Amino acid sequence: MSDEALIVLDKVNKWFGPLHVLDNVNLTVAKGEVVVVIGPSGSGKSTLCRAINRLEPINDGTITFDGRVLPAEGRPLARLRSEVGMVFQSFNLFAHKTILQNVMLGPLKVRKEKPAAVRERAMSLLDRVGIGNQADKYPAQLSGGQQQRVAIARALAMQPKALLFDEPTSALDPEMVGEVLDVMTSLAKEGMTMVVVTHEMGFARHAANRVVFMADGQLVEQAPPEEFFANPRSERAKDFLSKIL
Ligand code: ADP
Ligand code: MG
Repeated sequence: MSDEALIVLDKVNKWFGPLHVLDNVNLTVAKGEVVVVIGPSGSGKSTLCRAINRLEPINDGTITFDGRVLPAEGRPLARLRSEVGMVFQSFNLFAHKTILQNVMLGPLKVRKEKPAAVRERAMSLLDRVGIGNQADKYPAQLSGGQQQRVAIARALAMQPKALLFDEPTSALDPEMVGEVLDVMTSLAKEGMTMVVVTHEMGFARHAANRVVFMADGQLVEQAPPEEFFANPRSERAKDFLSKIL
């Protein structure tokens, strides 16, 4: 992890009508850092992720990515989106395209890269997530865990500077959670900058540099995992942990 900031949220506010869903959020993520975001349902975790890659506009404050203040729209926004990969709870693979085609699509269509180079990179990414031998299958022929690993390979195919994960294992059968977390853990070890919303406290303990606890749109507390789990300071965090651990 470097000292250099990659993602900086400065006094970010967002409302959905009267609902203050991001309430003066300040958060800095360093290059190579893994930040795990936890908190009760409805606390604004997904909105935070979506705001970072501007799937969701904010009302106030600034988000800086790799030294540039994020624009609200236009060409720089498209470039930014390709620099921040996102992995969702639902894998969102194209059902009528093969696994390999799914991984190749972004670099071909968005980046206009040469097919041969994209294919080679896609195959090596599929190998890296342990699915190289399934490249010509269709999503429905794979298990949920395998599909989520494809979704991670697809995000990596754009060569992002950071990856955002929004509850990537919540839709999986329990026996498939581990294989996805293993891929994420190895990415973390290789120095990928990651913001991970998850209920997997084992992952938070072992892979996170920092745990951020959100409640009611506020970033209530943040600390290294060993400190946070041993000694949560706020009542909200204590209460949350007592329910899930
Ligand atoms: P979390 O991911 O922590 O469960 P979300 O970021 O999804 O929380 O949602 C935070 C709050 O904003 C919730 O109360 C949710 O109902 C509300 N919300 C989310 N998306 C929208 C939307 N598009 N319109 C109105 N309210 C929304
Ligand atoms: Mg959510």
